[in-house]
Amino acid sequence: MTRPDFRHEAETLFDEMVAMRRDFHRHPELGFQETRTSRIVAERLNELGLEVQNGIGQTGVVGLLEGAKPGPTILLRFDMDALPIQEESDHAYISQNGGVMHACGHDGHTSMGLTVAKIMSQYQAQMAGTLKFMFQPAEEGLGGAFAMIAGGVLRDPKPDAALAMHVWTPEPFGNVRVVEGPCMASSSVFTITVQGKGGHGAAPHMAIDPILAGAHIITALQSIVSRNVNPQDSVVVSIGQFDAGTTFNVIPDRAVIKGTVRSYNEELHRQAYRRILEMATDMAKAFHCTINMETIAIVAAVVNAPEPTAVVRNAAVQIMGEENIVEHRTMASEDMGYVLEEIPGCYFFIGAGNDAECSYPHHHPKFNFDERAMIDGVAIMAQAAANYVLHDNES
Ligand SMILES: [Zn+2]
Ligand SMILES: [Zn+2]
Repeated sequence: MTRPDFRHEAETLFDEMVAMRRDFHRHPELGFQETRTSRIVAERLNELGLEVQNGIGQTGVVGLLEGAKPGPTILLRFDMDALPIQEESDHAYISQNGGVMHACGHDGHTSMGLTVAKIMSQYQAQMAGTLKFMFQPAEEGLGGAFAMIAGGVLRDPKPDAALAMHVWTPEPFGNVRVVEGPCMASSSVFTITVQGKGGHGAAPHMAIDPILAGAHIITALQSIVSRNVNPQDSVVVSIGQFDAGTTFNVIPDRAVIKGTVRSYNEELHRQAYRRILEMATDMAKAFHCTINMETIAIVAAVVNAPEPTAVVRNAAVQIMGEENIVEHRTMASEDMGYVLEEIPGCYFFIGAGNDAECSYPHHHPKFNFDERAMIDGVAIMAQAAANYVLHDNES
């Protein structure tokens, strides 16, 4: 068997991949509503001869590409969902679905996944092992990975390793981020309700002001990261919402504070919450208010295992060259963390930013990514898969 040149194969399929990506971009669908997208995915995988299962985790699709010889099962995961954002771009393939937009690049991931499947399906006869393609719905905070795990994506066959990637505009096109250990944070959200006693703005001494108490709580929470967390560790405590009152001259009876905690480590996460609860309770008490706090865990940290990370890193070096591999982490989150809690794997980032039209952050109404990054991502994913299931000496 001649050694495949996956960069060349991805380049050959670039126009087709761009056309697919722009079609998905025009027709974005929210989490668990990806019916059009998953229908196209299932049709293409069927055409390529994969064994396809629909409806795994509602709108998820699984495609099995079984090699002629036995070997490991490698899960390749791609997410498909869009976000509830009104697109403000001025390119020709703007979203046709009002208020819904592919503002994270999952349109690219879906077409990259289909392109990897197309490339690898040519090698089925030489493959020793199985590639399991996981096209996931609802990555954006709705638990799509969890739904697919509950639907059995990690069974029959159970994967030996799991790989996933994200096009990433904070990283310039031409670079790839691969790092062993934690690479994305665990995420949770909290709501603190501060209860006071409403009254007339002209008679504050007759009321108990929850806005004042809430403002002190928010200020105090800023000290957790700066005063309680070891400077060598990474934790984020951010308040994103503070709601209270209705008008100028009425002291409301309660205020609501909403925020998020991010970390790479569950114990640190719990510590941050112990401190949030302590501070909010005691600060409220100082102002004669009471609080109620609720927390919801969103995702586990994404932690890359040593062996799959070495495989991906080697593939990235083969495709990109050593000098373009960057080690970098982010406090963003990903529900791939749930898959990697059960299966050792690697999550990596394909640099997709440029100074022209691809400089907006993910989730921005003008978000776009450098489409050439899809060549890098497809070539690295195919190469990594090949490093597991295609071996020169078995041809
Ligand atoms: Zn996103
Ligand atoms: Zn994303």
